[in-house]
Amino acid sequence: MLKSRRVRLERYFNSYNLDAIFFTNLLNIRYLCGFSGSEGALLLSRGAGWFLCDSRYTTQANTEVSDAVIRQFVVKLDAVAELVSEQKFSRIGFESAHTTVADFRVLSEKLPGCELVAIGVELDQIRSLKDQHEIERLQDVASCASSSLLAVLDRLTPGVRETDFARELEFEMLRQGASGRAFDFIVASGERGAMPHGRASDKLISAGDLVTIDFGAVKDGYYSDETATIAVGQPDARSREIYGIVKEAHDRAIAAICPGIACRDLDAVARDFIRDSGYGDCFGHGLGHGVGLEIHEKPVISPRSEAIVAEGMVFTIEPGIYVPGFGGVRIEDTVVVTINGCRLLTQVPKELMIV
Ligand code: ZN
Ligand code: ZN
Repeated sequence: MLKSRRVRLERYFNSYNLDAIFFTNLLNIRYLCGFSGSEGALLLSRGAGWFLCDSRYTTQANTEVSDAVIRQFVVKLDAVAELVSEQKFSRIGFESAHTTVADFRVLSEKLPGCELVAIGVELDQIRSLKDQHEIERLQDVASCASSSLLAVLDRLTPGVRETDFARELEFEMLRQGASGRAFDFIVASGERGAMPHGRASDKLISAGDLVTIDFGAVKDGYYSDETATIAVGQPDARSREIYGIVKEAHDRAIAAICPGIACRDLDAVARDFIRDSGYGDCFGHGLGHGVGLEIHEKPVISPRSEAIVAEGMVFTIEPGIYVPGFGGVRIEDTVVVTINGCRLLTQVPKELMIV
C-alpha cells in the first residue's frame, strides 16, 4: 500500500533529478511510511527509505513504520546529515513549504557537498488521490460526524446558546468514536449566518433563525467536513429563497463532478448559478477543498485552481450566500470522485430541515 503511494514521487525524482527526498511534514511522513507520532523525519530514495526518530518514538515506529529502516537520533539534523553522507547522495529534495530557514541553513552547513533542492507545496499534491484504505477511513469519520449531528438535532431549539449546541455536538462525536473535532465548529444563527466563518458564540438561537452548522470530526488521523443550514421554526420567504438557490448550486456542482473536469469549471457551475440568481456578490469563497489527513488540502476548487478532477479525489462542495444584516446559508458535502461521477461521504440530508 505505502509502496504504491511512493510511486507518486517518481515525477519529482525525475523532474528535479534527485537522489532522495527529505520529509519533515508529519502528514506526508504518515502518508508515506505510516508513522503517526509528533516528531520524526523521513528520507526516501527511489528504492529505499529511512525513518528517523528520537528515543520517545522508537517503540511506536517499530509497530507503525513500514518499508523504511528505523534509525534513532539524538540530534535530528546531525543524523540526517550522517545518513546522506553515508549513502553518498548529492542531490536531495526538501519540502520548502514546511522547512524553516534555520533548519535549511544547518543542513546546508552540515552537507557542503550536497545540493538541497527546494520543492514547494506541489509536493503535498501526492496526497490528493485517495486509495481504498483512505476512502474507507474518510467514509468512517464522515459517517461518525453526520450521525452525531442527527443525534443531537432535537437540542437545536429556541433559547439554546450556539456554544452550548456546539459542545453537545462535539461530545456526541466523541461518544460515537471520534478522537476529536476537526476544527472549532461554526454555529451561526440568524444575522450571524452572514459570517462564513462565524464560530459559535454566546448568542441564543431564536425561533425563525436559520442556523449554519459547519462541523467535522477526526478519527484515525482523517478529517471530515460538512455544513448543514437548519431552520429553527418556520423561516421567512427570503430565507427560503436563499436556501433554494444555494441548494440548487450545490446539487448542480455535485451533478457536474466527473474525472477530467477542471476544478475551476466545477467552481463556475455553482458560482454562475448564484450570480444569475442575483447573489453574485454574496459568495466570496471558493467552492470547495480537498479533505484527508488535513481539513484543507489539495485540490482547491476555486476560480483560480489549476487542478483537474480525478478518480479517488475527496473534496468538499460548499456554496454559500451571505447577506450582511440579514443572514446566510451554506450547504457542504464531502464527496469521493468515482469513475464516472461521485459519491457522497457526508450524510446529513440537505433538503431544508425545519426543527
Ligand atoms: Zn466545513
Ligand atoms: Zn469545508
